[in-house]
Amino acid sequence: MAETETNQDHGALHEHRVFPPPAEFAANAAISGMDAYNKLCDEAAADYEGFWGRLAREHLDWHKPFTSTLDESSAPFYKWFADGQLNASYNCLDRNLQNGNADKTAIIFESDDGTVTRATYRELHERVCKFANGLKSRGIKKGDRVIIYMSMSIEGVAAMQACARIGATHSVVFGGFSAKSLQERIIDAGAVAVITADEQQRGGKSLPLKAIVDEALAMGGCDTIRDVIVYKRTGGNIAWTEGRDIWLHELVENQSAECEPEWVDAEHPLFILYTSGSTGTPKGVQHSTGGFLLWAALTMKWTFDIKPDDVFWCTADIGWVTGHSYIAYGPLAVGATEIVFEGIPTFPNAGRFWDTIAKHKVSIFYTAPTAIRSLIKASDVDEKVHPKNYDLSSLRLLGSVGEPINPEAWMWYYKNVGQERCPIVDTFWQTETGGHMITPLPGATPMVPGSCTLPLPGIMTAIVDEAGADVPNGQGGILVVKRPWPSMIRTIWNNPERFKTSYFPEELGGKYYLAGDGAIRNKDTGYFTITGRIDDVLNVSGHRMGTMEIESALVANPIVAEAAVVGKPDETTGESICAFVVLKQARPTGEEAKKLATELRNWVGKEIGPIAKPKEIRFGDNLPKTRSGKIMRRLLRVLAKGEAITQDVSTLENPAILDQLKESA
Ligand code: ATP
Ligand code: MG
Repeated sequence: MAETETNQDHGALHEHRVFPPPAEFAANAAISGMDAYNKLCDEAAADYEGFWGRLAREHLDWHKPFTSTLDESSAPFYKWFADGQLNASYNCLDRNLQNGNADKTAIIFESDDGTVTRATYRELHERVCKFANGLKSRGIKKGDRVIIYMSMSIEGVAAMQACARIGATHSVVFGGFSAKSLQERIIDAGAVAVITADEQQRGGKSLPLKAIVDEALAMGGCDTIRDVIVYKRTGGNIAWTEGRDIWLHELVENQSAECEPEWVDAEHPLFILYTSGSTGTPKGVQHSTGGFLLWAALTMKWTFDIKPDDVFWCTADIGWVTGHSYIAYGPLAVGATEIVFEGIPTFPNAGRFWDTIAKHKVSIFYTAPTAIRSLIKASDVDEKVHPKNYDLSSLRLLGSVGEPINPEAWMWYYKNVGQERCPIVDTFWQTETGGHMITPLPGATPMVPGSCTLPLPGIMTAIVDEAGADVPNGQGGILVVKRPWPSMIRTIWNNPERFKTSYFPEELGGKYYLAGDGAIRNKDTGYFTITGRIDDVLNVSGHRMGTMEIESALVANPIVAEAAVVGKPDETTGESICAFVVLKQARPTGEEAKKLATELRNWVGKEIGPIAKPKEIRFGDNLPKTRSGKIMRRLLRVLAKGEAITQDVSTLENPAILDQLKESA
């Protein structure tokens, strides 16, 4: 294994460390070795529809088989498996009752305070059927939209499954969103019901949910809502509106434990989900039933190499797409045992993830770079919460999702959590893509820190210039997907025009899916590295640079925990670089801040080159992030210019940080 101190004289785009899959892992993997990967790619290239048709038949149970695989007649509104019928909940639950998994644990619920409850597939099936019958008893039916505003819980997953069972389209709203954001989503979806909890437990505190629903509904415009279904989580005091509000336990009390699934067309909308709002106003992404579920199941097998004995833990919230594909649907569709975690990574201390892995013998762990970076910082400050103090021997595979993972954070994860034994799948994807797009396959792809490596078989990603022409490897450009794939976004709910202009812009010929991210392919390997959002590209004296490389150089400095860079108009260079930096130590001020800023500037100069030196550095205790944990560079750009923020901040987690970041070091 190569040494890791720093990236002296290369930087993230010239990463030279390569980690082949461990031989034993590769020997037992679903896709074993690059030949197996290439064989699948060749199959897709030779007969694109035949390839997806075969996989859809193998991985899903169809009530009515499809005869049409891909219908491109109303592109870019593509249809997959359109004349087939199925039910997502049937595929996740009933299937497991028939194939010997009935008494297998489906969900291990780890609550905020560490209490554990479990549900087998049989129990989950029963809960979902009763829930579904309860929804039906209130007149909720196929095609209705239901808002789910819940904490992480077995009931949260059951609520999604129950909607799927009756053909109602769910729209989960993350439990941290304000009443205003909730109200807007209720109105946009035209929802008939809200499923919520009295309160949620996070970090040892009870936080309101039902009260926020009440507030949202009182804001007006939500006349479509007839029912508010309330799961009793804490028993805290809540207000009650007779006739509208109903306890979940009362709703399901006398319901039958059998509920015939509503067979829906493959294109029936399974859910609507809003994007994180990192680059602008969130978009209400509509997903299908067949294509989405195929992806969730397939990527559990391809990317996570899921095996019957695995304990799978995705730390996302069901309010994000990661929690849809890799908590609510994917693991269940493949009959896995998974953890559903209510709490936060830092309660009761920053060793919570490691402790929980040891407690439940988690074998596959999937989390976000923002969590990894914050836990690196925490274990630097307090040795006791360092992963080395926990028994992590059950782990066999690690994953990352949400943002580019800086090479040094990757190395830390690899060494300290994976103990140099576990492959890391750095999965690039989006709310819109429904599941993984570019990722290493753990038993096949040699890994390079900071690179998401190669697209999944059949995924036609490419890098093009602003006119849609291919660019050669080694030259950065715009990431696109050249052909439709089964789990792609179907439309933006209520806004087909925005769907077309956002994702299939005329400038690129109207045919390529535009991801909105910049990327570069390695000259020799063809590996993809995401360089940052296309909106965030920096242009200094005619040199175009992504944000990722400079940020990764900063994070490679041992004193830096996190960094974000943005461009600022500059009279001489066109744009200059402004870096926002969080140190592992306390936020410096005055002379110390000036001294450290100079040090970091020189560090970046050495790591990448003088052109990449930030002109200005600002230190903060944190960075502005979306509630899904992503850096919001668009707000930093406004701060760098010294202007007031007038943009959409509905998904901003920590507004208070903006004030601190107004001043330079
Ligand atoms: P919005 O679309 O509203 O601006 P968002 O793009 O942050 O918000 P998501 O769909 O949650 O909403 O995030 C998808 C984005 O996350 C991708 O476009 C990419 O920028 C980033 N991303 C996710 N996984 C990775 C990864 N493994 N490597 C690099 N970037 C990633
Ligand atoms: Mg996006």
